[in-house]
Amino acid sequence: MRIQDQVKEHFQFKVVHEDKKSGARAGVITTPHGEIPTPVFMPVGTHGAIKALPPNFLEDLDTKIILSNTYHLHLSPGSKLVKKAGGLHKFMNWPRPILTDSGGFQVFSLQRKSIKEEGAEFKDHKGKTILLSPETSIEIQQELGSDIMMAFDECIPYPATREYTKKSIDRTHRWLDRCIESWTNPKQALFGIIQGSTYDDYRDECLDELVKRDLPGYAIGGVSVGEGPELMEKIVKYTGPKMPKDKPRYVMGVGNPEDLCMIWENGIDMSDCIIPTKFARGGTLFTRRGKIRIRHKNYRRDFFPIEPNCKCYCCQNFTRAYVKHLFDSNEILGQVLATMHNIEFYKNMAEEAREAILDNRYSQWKEDFLKSYKKDDGSKNN
Ligand SMILES: [Zn+2]
Repeated sequence: MRIQDQVKEHFQFKVVHEDKKSGARAGVITTPHGEIPTPVFMPVGTHGAIKALPPNFLEDLDTKIILSNTYHLHLSPGSKLVKKAGGLHKFMNWPRPILTDSGGFQVFSLQRKSIKEEGAEFKDHKGKTILLSPETSIEIQQELGSDIMMAFDECIPYPATREYTKKSIDRTHRWLDRCIESWTNPKQALFGIIQGSTYDDYRDECLDELVKRDLPGYAIGGVSVGEGPELMEKIVKYTGPKMPKDKPRYVMGVGNPEDLCMIWENGIDMSDCIIPTKFARGGTLFTRRGKIRIRHKNYRRDFFPIEPNCKCYCCQNFTRAYVKHLFDSNEILGQVLATMHNIEFYKNMAEEAREAILDNRYSQWKEDFLKSYKKDDGSKNN
């Protein structure tokens, strides 16, 4: 039996409802480590940890799935060691689903690398030459034991010529066949990635090539690479609704609240980004009225929570003045509380969007959300 058929026993996706007035949809992804209601936002745990948060906090926040990075875990501690520890779930004590990227994005963002038919070659921090290929990427991801693996592709930088894009996507499709060849564990789903830069016809071509391979899920890659919000929206609007309806649709690396509203409206189910956690550690917190920079002097005597209606541990127990004080004093607790709050904000946003989709009022929800989020009440000082 083909691996694409074997995986169906362990990995499923069901659309529960499609919003009647927009392209947004609510669904459920089933994996060996649990169910994921969609749309879902995935926090990023690059090195096998969400920075500043132990996994039990993430479970309390009801995080359903996290992303971890193949490239980083390959460099340290190495996937062989993680496998020996019982796989990434056990190693990091995270019982719920994990998605791993292919490592391609990180390698292609390096200054010094060389791309060959075989794969991408680069030097690690010790100066050792490492080749990341479709075979090694899948081998590493299988040793990590993630629930969802990503195909090894070239994330095309922006801008790219038509000529370069064509050459790159052809190679990415040859790489995809090699990824499928190396994929042996049916408990791990392999997602393909649509590239094609800003060219509609190449995006179509990539989608056709992927659908031919009948994979468990599909992603839009090569966005959020410097093309700007207008072009990103154009790509997602064009490609999202054409992606197979019965498979999860994932946009990689997108995580501004405004962008999430846009991708969900175009029928996207999943996304990931470092924004909520990275911003939290820098003292930028997300609220219904936009982002606030907690270090600002305005919050010195502000004895309200970060967000009055928020159910997170930070907002239930601490004031803005205290969180500001923690950041000012370089207390690690500030970063912990801020990370909790931002993860809760993103989770709530996805949950509310899902409810709105189920009630056929997604567009209204989006409009209300953005109206409040973009409103400047003069206290934010972004
Ligand atoms: Zn909160």
